[in-house]
Amino acid sequence: MKIVVAGGDGFCGWPTALHLSDRGHEVTIVDSLVRREIDEELGSNSMTPILSLTERVAAWKEVSGQDIAVRIADLTDYDAVRAVFEEERPEAFVHFAEHRSAPYSMIDREHAIANHRNNVEGTLNVLWAIKDVAPDCHLVKLGTMGEYGQPNIDIEEGWIEIEHKGRTDRLPFPKQPGSFYHLTKVHDSDNIMFACRIWGIRATDLNQGVVYGLETEQTRRDPRLVNRFDYDAVFGTALNRFLIQAAIGHPMTVYGGGSQTRGYLNIEDTVRCIEIACDNPAERGEFRVFNQFTESFSVEELAEKARRVAQAQGLDARIDHIANPRVEKYDHYYNAVNTNLLELGLEPHLLTDEVLAEILDVARANSGRVRRELVMPGVTWKDGARASGAEAA
Ligand code: NAD
Repeated sequence: MKIVVAGGDGFCGWPTALHLSDRGHEVTIVDSLVRREIDEELGSNSMTPILSLTERVAAWKEVSGQDIAVRIADLTDYDAVRAVFEEERPEAFVHFAEHRSAPYSMIDREHAIANHRNNVEGTLNVLWAIKDVAPDCHLVKLGTMGEYGQPNIDIEEGWIEIEHKGRTDRLPFPKQPGSFYHLTKVHDSDNIMFACRIWGIRATDLNQGVVYGLETEQTRRDPRLVNRFDYDAVFGTALNRFLIQAAIGHPMTVYGGGSQTRGYLNIEDTVRCIEIACDNPAERGEFRVFNQFTESFSVEELAEKARRVAQAQGLDARIDHIANPRVEKYDHYYNAVNTNLLELGLEPHLLTDEVLAEILDVARANSGRVRRELVMPGVTWKDGARASGAEAA
């Protein structure tokens, strides 16, 4: 299959591009490299020493014999997006190419707007290009479980049957996102659902949980293929961040009470979920939603697991409950359905001590690259970055 992986230089996109290429698909990466620019803006870096995109792709060719084409393009530039569709004629367009940090979107007004422009405009351009150039192309779009928030009822996969005053309907599941970034994902979902309804586009919205891990079967084949590994308080996600904190002897920072519960999955399952979605396209006109996570944990549970594994390696791992920079619910109900991908053949890689130990090993090997001053949160939901004087403001 001919597949474009937009955002293929990022944490999820790079291993996905390798995985799809390894399975024999013809892969083109489209990326604006904006994530690397944001590293410079924040004074941050990947904990692992990642090569340039050109060097990574050349290393993959050497290791696997497979070509991955690269196009440096910004999805907010419609001419560039249209050219991708006209020249590549993809059967599937996997869309990872967004600014994906909640704290980044909460820094200040300018960052919130830049986040909305990048994500919402980029996705609208992709929808118009599919309609005008490649109407049969299957859009595989990364959403997030954060779109739903934490309602006091079970979270369904995108849709819910509602009975109201004696009548019933199948309606979009209510969304209660927790940051301006998560709101961009909600807007994307609405725009995609609308495009499916009016233009007959086929789309799968993958509401992904928080991704942990680093390596996949393909990235393990050569050190030059290593994935990016974010640790700073703006882009580092829970669990990966805790393990890195343990590796550098910094207390693991649990925000507030720690009972906040979310869905999680291993990066090895992310790449497989994308493959499953591509292999089983939505019907024309269908807006299909899969909840892409495998297990749920509270933040406290994750920190405890990380502490246990770190202590078994002789590290002096500690947990610190710090003031929560976000506005979040505690002790809330959380039960989300995730059966669609399992029914299509996903076999989850669960969070075992061995998995934690492998991530910790990489973190310890690269601990010299960590800038400790980036680990504590500098952006708060109520006051942005100004109150704490974070550099990113
Ligand atoms: P990432 O920041 O590591 O990668 C995103 C990539 O997209 C980067 O390489 C960036 O340069 C590129 N990009 C961004 N805007 C672009 C644009 N306008 N045009 C072209 N390229 C652009 O993020 P990630 O962790 O790989 O996340 C990928 C997707 O998965 C995102 O949409 C994110 O919202 C979603 N997601 C991620 C997680 C997670 O835990 N990492 C969880 C849920 C959902």
